[in-house]
Amino acid sequence: MARHEALVSPLPVAECVQAVDPRWLRTRAELFMEASQLPFALTFDLARYSQVTGLTFHAHYAAQVFLGEHDSRLDIPLMAVNLTHVPTKEAADRVFAHEVMHLRWPSYGHKQVAFERAQNVLDTVGTLAA
Ligand SMILES: [Zn+2]
Repeated sequence: MARHEALVSPLPVAECVQAVDPRWLRTRAELFMEASQLPFALTFDLARYSQVTGLTFHAHYAAQVFLGEHDSRLDIPLMAVNLTHVPTKEAADRVFAHEVMHLRWPSYGHKQVAFERAQNVLDTVGTLAA
């Protein structure tokens, strides 16, 4: 959790505190896809996510990713984001970076090196958005 909170959004401080809406999140997600060279599908419909994946989306989760089953990976992984736990643009940037980290480097888990990669993705998003 400390490593998650240490992720630094490239957004100006004034924007970090701004509220998000699904449209902003979808646009932002595109930048994370570009920065990580990894397309993913984004949903805010948690019930549907559970239905499609067979996974429980716990109420305290901010987000979760699904790569498919071990023997049948999805061509495009699925990311579910719980809007109630992503109130600000800063929170969204951290969540996207964290979940992209799991998609891109699944074997790294929550190691320090994984979060370093996540921060690199965030920094790249900053340069793409600039
Ligand atoms: Zn995680």
